[in-house]
Amino acid sequence: MGNGALGALQRYADATAIDGVFISHLHADHCLDLCGYYVMRKYHPDGPLPRIPVFGPKDTARRMAKAYDLDEDPGMNEEFDFIPYGPDAVHHGPFTVAVRNVVHPVTAYALRIEANGRVLAYSGDSGACHGLEETARDADLFLCEASFLEGATNPTDLHLTGAEAGRTATVAGSRRLLLTHIPPWHDPQKVLAEAMGEYDGPLDLATPGKTYDV
Ligand SMILES: [Zn+2]
Ligand SMILES: [Zn+2]
Repeated sequence: MGNGALGALQRYADATAIDGVFISHLHADHCLDLCGYYVMRKYHPDGPLPRIPVFGPKDTARRMAKAYDLDEDPGMNEEFDFIPYGPDAVHHGPFTVAVRNVVHPVTAYALRIEANGRVLAYSGDSGACHGLEETARDADLFLCEASFLEGATNPTDLHLTGAEAGRTATVAGSRRLLLTHIPPWHDPQKVLAEAMGEYDGPLDLATPGKTYDV
């Protein structure tokens, strides 16, 4: 639900039919479209849509109220049931979602989403760390951020280089790697080439509009 996600979502799904939201962390580029989605559910002409769970860091309700400039009470609590991540996996519909803390300047989680014996792992934003490796362990598809390139003086515990994303996928035994979160100032092909040097399995750049089977 980062900025821009709600528009794209409507090309592929009925946004009003969504019955749960999972948020990796509370940086603007990972949560702000919950503001637009709040409007869609609250002011729907057929009446407000049912309250749905929003799983995320414990500060999510407050952060979203602040983002929309709402009083914290009620904030968005009448539209969304904000449920903080805990140590146990969450069961939601056919999905089991296990989260792990990853290294980032704010509390951040990587998500491991399982259904029918298949696993999608998502890094959220993360530096290289054990929590990320565990999340991606034997995953059928590892959707991993790669915001940095090797060779620059990159801040630590913030993001991954393409090489680190590849290395993480190798250590974790991920079966397929898909790179995302590449900033516009980097050439995606360079990021991909770095990852390719560290990972032998199938890998690609995440492309809007493309479908990936898990
Ligand atoms: Zn972030
Ligand atoms: Zn980000």
